[in-house]
Formats: sequence, C-alpha cells, structure tokens
Amino acid sequence: MSSMFIKDDDFSAFVTTMIEAGPVYGPVAKRSRFIFERLESPEELRLDYDVTILPPKKLFFPPAQDLIRFDADEFKSAIDPEEKVLLGVHFYDVKGLDQTDLLYSERNFDSSYMANRQTTTIVASNIQNVSDRAFFASVGAGVPAKGHDAFLTSITGGYVFEPLTERGEALLKHGAFVAATDAQVAEAEKVNAEALTKCKEKHEHSAEDIAAKVAAAFDNEDLWSELAEDCFSCGSCNTVCPTCYCFDVQDTWNVDAVSGQRTRYWDACLTADFAQVSLGEGATENFRGSRGERFRHRFMRKSVYLNDKLGQPACVGCGRCSAACTADIADPVRVIDRIMAS
Ligand code: SF4
Ligand code: SF4
Repeated sequence: MSSMFIKDDDFSAFVTTMIEAGPVYGPVAKRSRFIFERLESPEELRLDYDVTILPPKKLFFPPAQDLIRFDADEFKSAIDPEEKVLLGVHFYDVKGLDQTDLLYSERNFDSSYMANRQTTTIVASNIQNVSDRAFFASVGAGVPAKGHDAFLTSITGGYVFEPLTERGEALLKHGAFVAATDAQVAEAEKVNAEALTKCKEKHEHSAEDIAAKVAAAFDNEDLWSELAEDCFSCGSCNTVCPTCYCFDVQDTWNVDAVSGQRTRYWDACLTADFAQVSLGEGATENFRGSRGERFRHRFMRKSVYLNDKLGQPACVGCGRCSAACTADIADPVRVIDRIMAS
C-alpha cells in the first residue's frame, strides 16, 4: 500500500472526523506524564509523549475485567467489544501487543482479550521523545513490530501515513491525504531511524548471550538475594509492563447471594503471595517464598523462558519498570549488566 501525506493544518480535522465516526484512543497528558485515554478532541492528543504510565494492553486486558455475569439459571459473557481506533502507539508497545496476541491465542484462545483486540484499528506513530530509562533500540532489533494497521510519522510540514492493512487504509477517508513524495517517505525513514539512536540505556550483549548467562545464574542464590535485597514485593514492575500477562480470577456475589460476576485482575509475580497455593485444611505452600526467588523468576521470564517461542526476549525495552520501581532495582539493563559481570 502506498504511503500518504497529510499537512499539519489538516491533521486536526482528520482526528476530529475519526472521533465523530467512533471512539478514538490516544496518548494524552496526565499532569507531567501521559496515559492512553479516549480522545474528546484532537487538542488532547499528545503524539510528542515519551512513554505512557501503563501500556496500551489495558484497552484489551484491563486491570479489572468482568468476564461473565451469572444468576441461578444462566451465565452470560460480560465482554462487549468496542470498534475503536487506537492512535499513536510506539513500536515497542506494538511489539508488546504482538507478544500478548501470540501468548493469548497459541493454545487456549483468550476470547475475552481477542474480542477487543480484533475490533481495534491500531495506528502506530514515531517516537518524538525518548524516555530516560528506555532501551528499546537494543532488544529484539531483528524482530519488527507487526500488529499495527498503519504507521504515522511526523515530518516537516505534516505526517507520512503508511497504511499496512485494509483497516488502516480505511482511515484515509477521514482526512485530506495526498500521495507522499519519495522525499517525504525518505524523511520518515530517517526520523524513525534516528529515534533508535536516542536511548540513553542499552544492553551491551546479544539476547542469546544474555539468555545463556541468566540461565546459568539460576542457582546463584546469593546473586538473586543481592539483586532483590531492597525489593518491596509491590509488583509495580509487573503491572506497568507491556509484556506481562498474568491474571487472577475471582467470583463475587451480589447481595441476593445468587447472582454475581466472574472478574479477572492483573496479577504480579513479584508479589509475596503470587505463588502461594492451598494444600487443603488451611495449609498453604509458597513455591517462590523469597524475594530473590521472585526476582529471579521475573528475569527468567523476560530473558530466557519465552525467547524461543517469541523469537525475541519478553521485554521490549520501554523502561517503564525502571521508572516505576521505588527502590530503583528493576531496571533490566542494570540487572543484566550485574548478572553478566557475575
Ligand atoms: S517494582 Fe521494584 S520494589 Fe516493586 S516488586 Fe518490582 S523490583 Fe520489587
Ligand atoms: S521488563 Fe521493563 S523494560 Fe522490559 S518491557 Fe517490561 S516494563 Fe518494559
């Protein structure tokens, strides 16, 4: 599909027309930070954001999501998928969604996630500002993002819009697009290549070397205890991560004690009770009872266990975990550097 161009002066009308046609979500400012939110007007859209507090997975896999509602006679799906446009997703977050798409469909097809994922048109956008803790240029470099429907790049005087699917192409009707010139396409490629040079942090080793060293460090309990020494077991590094996908399911009853709902909630493997299971008669067993064991599990998941399945590490280098950790011990670049030096 051919790349198109829209002038800065026409962009606001393009977003307005999309909003009039249906829900549009995009990055908006929240005090000094950014979140993905439904847009009420084009002025709210902040394509110059660096990173959002939570990744866009929250639109398909919300922190709390009713799955079914039930009463004494029947149960019904509580999932009500919404046709929508998600605008302005950075490529590392598209890669996070690519991973979740695979993991939620390869064996047990997660219809609750997929229902909203399949009704969403995703427009990725270039990274205009790079967050301080990002290292997306040094992870999974050989694996391109693929789950988006179009790619938008800010260049001189406007935007290059590259439709990638029929859904992406269908958005062209909302704006005053013209065919992009070769010079405009070349400028867009240059802008996107330059973003990869602006990360302040980077992995110094290949994913293969990291995976081998992290796996070999599995039994080094002193190392994991040292790395996790200041961990509060709060789970923030999990909950902000675009590639974490664990959840807990709970049933709650209404006051009639007959009807109710089944809800799933984000879960976090760094929390103390994540791996606690019942042995019956009130007894429990926690098979990752120490902070070091939980910390190790996170890095095994991100750097080792899923690499073959995903074709890349289960980390896209967004840097959210580094910024979210109160103790500042979650940064994958620093942790991997320490392990590589062990
Ligand atoms: S955010 Fe930091 S303190 Fe909280 S669980 Fe993760 S590593 Fe531990
Ligand atoms: S582990 Fe950290 S840097 Fe990697 S994808 Fe998750 S939040 Fe982003």
